[in-house]
Amino acid sequence: MATKEFKAESKRLLEMMIHSIYTHKEIFLRELISNASDAIDKLYFKSLTDDKVGLGKNDFAIEIKADKDNRTLTISDNGIGMTEEELENNLGTIANSGSLKFKTENKLDEESQIIGQFGVGFYSAFMVAKKVTVVSKAYGSDKAFMWESEGVDGYTITECEKDTAGTVITLELLEDTEDEKYSDFLEQYKIQSLVKKYSDYIRFPIKMAVTKSRPIENKDTDENAEPKYEDFIEVETLNSMVPIWKKNKSELKDEDYNSFYREKFFDYSAPLKHMHVKNEGTATYNALLYIPSKAPHDYYTKEFEKGLQLYSNGVLIMDKCSDLLPDYFSFVKGLVDSEDLSLNISREMLQHDRQLKIIAKSLEKTIKNELTKMLKNDRENYEKFFKEFGLQVKFGVYDNFGLNKDNLKDLIMFVSSAEKKLTTLDEYVSRMREDQQYIYYASGESIARIEQLPQTELVKDKGYEILYFTDNVDEFAIRILGEYKEKKFKSVSADDLGLESDEKKEEIKAKEEENADLFKTLTENLNGKVSKVRLSSRLKSHPVCITSEGEISLEMEKVLNAMPSDQKVKAQRVLEINPDHPIFEKLNNLYANDKDKLGKYAELLYNQALLIEGLPIENPSEFANLICELM
Ligand code: ADP
Repeated sequence: MATKEFKAESKRLLEMMIHSIYTHKEIFLRELISNASDAIDKLYFKSLTDDKVGLGKNDFAIEIKADKDNRTLTISDNGIGMTEEELENNLGTIANSGSLKFKTENKLDEESQIIGQFGVGFYSAFMVAKKVTVVSKAYGSDKAFMWESEGVDGYTITECEKDTAGTVITLELLEDTEDEKYSDFLEQYKIQSLVKKYSDYIRFPIKMAVTKSRPIENKDTDENAEPKYEDFIEVETLNSMVPIWKKNKSELKDEDYNSFYREKFFDYSAPLKHMHVKNEGTATYNALLYIPSKAPHDYYTKEFEKGLQLYSNGVLIMDKCSDLLPDYFSFVKGLVDSEDLSLNISREMLQHDRQLKIIAKSLEKTIKNELTKMLKNDRENYEKFFKEFGLQVKFGVYDNFGLNKDNLKDLIMFVSSAEKKLTTLDEYVSRMREDQQYIYYASGESIARIEQLPQTELVKDKGYEILYFTDNVDEFAIRILGEYKEKKFKSVSADDLGLESDEKKEEIKAKEEENADLFKTLTENLNGKVSKVRLSSRLKSHPVCITSEGEISLEMEKVLNAMPSDQKVKAQRVLEINPDHPIFEKLNNLYANDKDKLGKYAELLYNQALLIEGLPIENPSEFANLICELM
């Protein structure tokens, strides 16, 4: 029989297992028990609707056997089992396994830490075993197969005998060395404590025949005789079988919640927050929700799937129930267990399930409240949260034409000019000056860039705070919001900033009228590139800037045009000129004496304004040539 080779990644992971440090090795038992429990879950689920399974809830169990003479440890389950093909696919390669997914997302140099904190699946058996044998019979199949491997060299699969469906995994433990006593794993107390530590909540009994001792009844009534003991063997269930979410909060420590999270949701970092909900009333359910501390690498892509695990009375019925979470809280991980849901409900039926809708609404409230609480009492963590997931929440404000904007507006933050720190809208408004009418904002690709924008000069000069919009969605979200606490939002590039005195406006208007011909000529020179050239009341030191008129701002133009659509939009651009800058004088001069040169200046100033705004100039080489020419 030919030995098959492991796939390359599997080989790498295996090698890593074999060389991991001793203290981490004990988690192999947890991994094998989890797999056994998953396999039982699958068959148990079937048994609820299929009498042919022939097993009731109390018949399912995981069994552990330690054989000191042969140095073997055996973990068996009467779960769904594996076919020959599944043995090949599931154990010959780790491509399907959670472990590999994790591996590729994280660097291998943190290996040993990873192994310690996080599940690494079936392969962890090789941390303690020199040989692993898996005998398995799939439910509904009449053949059983044996998978055997001594590590990196490969594995074999042969047909064998097994009466009932399920899997038996036998580990031939490695020889003890000076520092590593693998034989510990054959000790009863060790196994008992490992199960308690890692697998207590497993819903099926983990049984082991344990040796106990009891006093032998004293037949002759000599009261002074030494009591005698005898050993006897009894099958004991090692785990309490209560899932963590059904336990009382008072029994659980942060650490319990965190380690459950890491194992269950394959996250290497501890979550930022957990929420343990026990709800009774219109919907009865237990839920355990987590806010991760880091966004998954695919979070902001189409590949990301939101959802919570859904249990019906302790039985997993769906791994990612997306209807339980609104998109704007899609970052939440966790599970919901409810007695009110029917077990054999299909995905399609679930979508219309009234009960599920009630649960989803109630969970949404829980999450919102938790975030609000965090914002109030735990600012540091809230900001951490917002840096990872704030974009999603802001998107939620904008999404569905603002359907949820009022629900979310107090959760969003922006960096503001005041301290260059994140601020909420509420905080901004509470700091507004008495005479300040608007909430000002400026958009750009980075904070540094926005700070340089000429348009911000006047607002800053007035001592007003500006919100810095650096995410694409920001301006869209704010436009949908329209106002906050009756204060309207105003872009620093807006036509009327509400800052100029009437006198100043009059003065500018008069000047514009005076020079109407100059502006007309400049606009003509720029030939369709701008809809208007005018004098600016917002510029202090800069000569020119680009703003826009109408519905679409320059920032929105950038964003909309970056989207995959044939229809390109164009903001109506306005070139503003600083009337107090010497360049204005110069333009006037040229208008009187050299119209040809005026045209070139117009071109130059327009391009300069584009550059400052972070917009591409239409013809860079022409621009460069023009500069040289004028120099
Ligand atoms: P993961 O559990 O993360 O998917 P593993 O390497 O632990 O990765 O296991 C790979 C796959 O092998 C499992 O997904 C499962 O399909 C199968 N498997 C492992 N152990 C058992 C078992 N005791 N019974 C049935 N299938 C199993």
